[in-house]
Amino acid sequence: MDFRTTPEQDAIRDAVRSLCTRFPDEYWRDLDRRAAYPDAFVKALTDAGWLAALIPTEYGGAGLGVTEASLILEEINASGGNAASAHAQMYTMGTLLRHGSDAQKRMYLPKIAKGELRLQAFGITEPEAGSETTRIRTTAVKKRDRYIVSGKKIFISRTLQSDLLLLLARTTPYESLEDKTQGLSVFLVDLKAAVAAKKITIRPIETMLNHHTTELFIDGLELEKSALVGNEGMGFRHIIDSWNAERILIASESLGDGRWFIERASRYAGERVVFGRPIGANQGVQFPLAQAHAHVVAARLVRDKAAWLFDRGEPCGPEANTAKLLASQAAWAAGNAAMDTYGGYAFAKEFDVERKFRETRLFLTAPVNNNLVLAYIAEHVLGLPKSY
Ligand SMILES: Cc1cc2nc3c(=O)[nH]c(=O)nc-3n(C[C@H](O)[C@H](O)[C@H](O)COP(=O)(O)OP(=O)(O)OC[C@H]3O[C@@H](n4cnc5c(N)ncnc54)[C@H](O)[C@@H]3O)c2cc1C
Repeated sequence: MDFRTTPEQDAIRDAVRSLCTRFPDEYWRDLDRRAAYPDAFVKALTDAGWLAALIPTEYGGAGLGVTEASLILEEINASGGNAASAHAQMYTMGTLLRHGSDAQKRMYLPKIAKGELRLQAFGITEPEAGSETTRIRTTAVKKRDRYIVSGKKIFISRTLQSDLLLLLARTTPYESLEDKTQGLSVFLVDLKAAVAAKKITIRPIETMLNHHTTELFIDGLELEKSALVGNEGMGFRHIIDSWNAERILIASESLGDGRWFIERASRYAGERVVFGRPIGANQGVQFPLAQAHAHVVAARLVRDKAAWLFDRGEPCGPEANTAKLLASQAAWAAGNAAMDTYGGYAFAKEFDVERKFRETRLFLTAPVNNNLVLAYIAEHVLGLPKSY
């Protein structure tokens, strides 16, 4: 067993860290206040090639693995930024690379790698189905050589900042299926064209964090057969290839948040003097931080193993889910420890703790809530009856 990162991985961390210094706390605080998208940051990440990390070199990407992608997202969040503004390009790659046709890859990947096209939107969740993805109702009806798509999606993030949308839709009625995980299909949609043709209407949803999530109303959107990714009816399986990557990458963003909370709070606890000594001299202040650190370090080991398995093409569902669970919980505990450490100042926006606290809270709930992660572990690792 070798726990060391390679010199190349260290160089990636250093380069991302250095890029992030150009986008300090004030940058993110200002965006948060204005609910604005970090265009300059995403452009800088794209120009440096980091958002094309997972795109193979033959298509102009960096040809790196989920391990390296994890380090990139972790460093962004550890710097005080929010990688959620750009992470979907990495989440969606698992489906596109493993199941996209050569023609689709040749058509889209070089442009995505160059930053000419953004694939930042992943359309799965629906108002009625919620976490029960196999119940989605957005329907793609085959008419000769086309699919006609209609339905409603909710909480689909960055649709206003994306050119393409990876969309999950139903191609066989739920009632006709024996295996309920079949009958769904994945499509790569030209979002800008669909909006211009009034076939997709986007309605922004205001949330407690600066996340740019939206509702989509899809009405008679015509898609050519060439928009289908992989096999018709196998979309749920194809999406799962993105989900494991997504869980590992979300774990990484959480780990970055956890590191940020602990680093900032430890520094503050060493400087803030009350009752004649630094507050960090009190065990009531330092123990929650030390505990949070221990949880972050442990979660990082599971994340590393999950990414290692993913990059070898080996099954990694248990590890990816465990990493997402532990890292999101570790970040949340670190966030609470930081809130307590900063006292009243935690609530003042200029310290950024409350902003990061709101941002990291999301990861307990989305992109998959931790109850469903526990249900996965109970069923697939412990062999307990399926609970949902
Ligand atoms: C800011 C934000 C951005 C998002 N971005 C995207 C995106 O880009 N694309 C996309 O497709 N989706 C996105 N989502 C949706 C997100 O993935 C869902 O909100 C999430 O999966 C949960 O679905 P739901 O909100 O309908 O919760 P529900 O399914 O209604 O569940 C509500 C709660 O009930 C509990 N619960 C439900 N079922 C069970 C069960 N069987 N056992 C135990 N507990 C259960 C869970 O605790 C859960 O939190 C986003 C959400 C948010 C808030």
